[in-house]
Amino acid sequence: MNNLQEYVNKLALANWNREFNLPVEVVADLDAHGMFGGEFSPLGLRIPIGMKLSKDLIDHYPDYIIDGVILHELCHWFLFITGKPCGDTDIEFVEEMFRVGGLFPNQIPKIGYYPVAICKKCRKIIGTEESESKCKSRLKNYNSLCCNSPLMYGGIRYINELENCRECK
Ligand SMILES: [Zn+2]
Ligand SMILES: [Zn+2]
Repeated sequence: MNNLQEYVNKLALANWNREFNLPVEVVADLDAHGMFGGEFSPLGLRIPIGMKLSKDLIDHYPDYIIDGVILHELCHWFLFITGKPCGDTDIEFVEEMFRVGGLFPNQIPKIGYYPVAICKKCRKIIGTEESESKCKSRLKNYNSLCCNSPLMYGGIRYINELENCRECK
């Protein structure tokens, strides 16, 4: 076991009193912060595969965020291996997330390059989206909160919500 696997195992033992002995991989091109993988055999048996965490998460985020993502994936894992509903919106999943303090994707500060919508008048960044098309399609539906002006597409900008949080303090 590498250090990260040992760490995930420690969280599994602390929260579920169960060993996590599956591989934990750090992946450069993961399009989520974390992912738990499992398969169903032809007979319908649940076969857990392992956990992937994004390199971006490990490199750029503080420990409490990394823990929150790992706990999220461990909630998927635990419900999967115990035969319960294990999707992000299943009530069993949400309850387990509250119990252990896992983080949902929308609770994780954005760091990186994102398409942004800006206020047409004062050019403030009003919102970020995961994709350019989603960003553009939302523009016509909203006005800016700063001065109630129309929004316009502001291109792809470097966003660091963590840094903003630090400035607030
Ligand atoms: Zn999930
Ligand atoms: Zn404005």
